[in-house]
Amino acid sequence: MMRESRVLQGIPASPGIVLGRARVLAEKMEAQPDYCLLYSPGEINEEIGRFLKAVEQAESDLIILKESLSPEYQEHAHLLDLQILVLKERMIFEETQRLIQEERYNAEWALFQAWQKVRELFKGIGDPYIKGRIQDVEEVYRRLQTILAGREALSLSSQEPVILVARDLSPAEATQMTRSQVLGFITERGGRTSHTAIIAQSLEIPAVVGVDFATREIATGDALIMDGLTGQIILDPDEEMSRFYRDRREDFEAFKEKVAQSSGLPATTLDAYPTHIQANIELPEEVELGLKYGADGVGLYRTEFLYLRQRHLPTEEELFQDYCRVVEAMRPKTVTIRTLDIGGDKFLSPLEYAPEMNPALGLRAIRFCLKETNIFRTQLKAILRASAFGQVRVMFPLISSVGEMQESRRLLEEVKQDLAREGLPFDPRLPVGAMIEVPAAVTLANLLAQYADFFSIGTNDLIQYALAIDRGNKQVAPMYQPLHPAVMRMIREVVHAAGIARIPVAMCGEMAGDPLYIPVLLGLGVSELSMNASAIPIAKHIIRMITIEAARKIARHVLRLVTVEEINEYVAQELNRRFPEIFRFGRTMAQS
Ligand code: PEP
Ligand code: MG
Repeated sequence: MMRESRVLQGIPASPGIVLGRARVLAEKMEAQPDYCLLYSPGEINEEIGRFLKAVEQAESDLIILKESLSPEYQEHAHLLDLQILVLKERMIFEETQRLIQEERYNAEWALFQAWQKVRELFKGIGDPYIKGRIQDVEEVYRRLQTILAGREALSLSSQEPVILVARDLSPAEATQMTRSQVLGFITERGGRTSHTAIIAQSLEIPAVVGVDFATREIATGDALIMDGLTGQIILDPDEEMSRFYRDRREDFEAFKEKVAQSSGLPATTLDAYPTHIQANIELPEEVELGLKYGADGVGLYRTEFLYLRQRHLPTEEELFQDYCRVVEAMRPKTVTIRTLDIGGDKFLSPLEYAPEMNPALGLRAIRFCLKETNIFRTQLKAILRASAFGQVRVMFPLISSVGEMQESRRLLEEVKQDLAREGLPFDPRLPVGAMIEVPAAVTLANLLAQYADFFSIGTNDLIQYALAIDRGNKQVAPMYQPLHPAVMRMIREVVHAAGIARIPVAMCGEMAGDPLYIPVLLGLGVSELSMNASAIPIAKHIIRMITIEAARKIARHVLRLVTVEEINEYVAQELNRRFPEIFRFGRTMAQS
């Protein structure tokens, strides 16, 4: 008998529509291991040996996995490297051995206890990057438990391409996916900015995350439709629904192809107003996707990942090589390198430092760099050296005072002098930017403009700090509103201050790549938008189909409205009217 169709709602994480059969990976979740005490010292030694052997096997499995990655996934090999490092992290590796030794726990229980402590440490941390790190630790934990239990690690490969359904998928697991095996995936956990979601986008595998009870509601073999544009999942669809979604998929693919074709054209409005559409990158490899979609440069090079790939701090030479790779690939286009934005020292090595009460308000970004000046100088030196090989700009994250700009610039000048003494080439006029992502920076924009050659608005943080909404907290996610009147006014204020100082204003938060917001941002005077590379075609398409006059009219109207609900409604209506072909797919199609 045919079951009735049901709909589940999740968060769209990677665009695309797929129809297929489910493969549920719920079995990969470990049951809690048994508590068991050891009797003799001999048993204790044996148990420690068993644990060390499991670590050894996990390490060799990870190395094999890394080596077997096909070339298209090589860029993610560093995530496996990270897991290899986590295997020997003090809080897992040493703590488990200590618990076996001192508490006489069996290996499984000791490992479980060590993992619980790590998890406790990370509880309540909203920063999506740090959340990403805990996923790596969890993946390692699961891998070790699987080995200790004498089970085989679950393989993702299967004969027929399937839609994977799991409580959670680690970035390492995501890297194992190929489009011929995995049509798309659904997870109960995760957010739009999790590592796994980012990998899905760069592999162009549709995904929906944050689907409550997905592994309970869906069974292996169930027929599914997954809409990565709206976050909807349809279980046991009837023929009519399947036909509808097949047509929708076809339309979407055709539309994607159409916009990608014109992505190489300049991002100029109908009335010839020029804009710059740039790419956000995390790794040098991502430059290729940016170039493919006609990016006018790199507007945000998040440099944290180079620090996370390895246990030791990267050397000046390593940083220089990485930056050069990007700069040379993009030449003659500009590459904007953001200096290190780690969320407190935990981010560098989350397992070795004490947690901060509130890392979002803690020793983060420029605050960290101005404290750890050696780390900062090394990075500045590498950036300056790379500036001799193309068009480079540098920008400082989380600026909240003029003093921070003054001090950062002073260090930059000192490093320039060092380089000049060493006879190494660099661009002496390297443009220096301030990221505007703290309300204080908005208020001080006219003063900061005297110390900055450009501004870049980081809306991901600006919205969270302005509205007091943790950007990683699911409970308040509906209140995270980019079109909030306070945010609109802040952007206007920044553009106004920059206009008086005659410096350009860019935007590099997720908001900049969302089709819904692009006209209003243009109208407010932000003409440099930096986004996930996959969002570029649609962003350019919108810009090429609107006049700056119309965009300004939208912005003026928005500024007259007083509630976010009114603004949301107005902007949606306006955009729907102007770009029905885009908005029929759901506005998430180009979101990162
Ligand atoms: C932002 O805050 O908008 C931004 C671009 O920086 P990140 O997302 O890396 O904090
Ligand atoms: Mg930020």
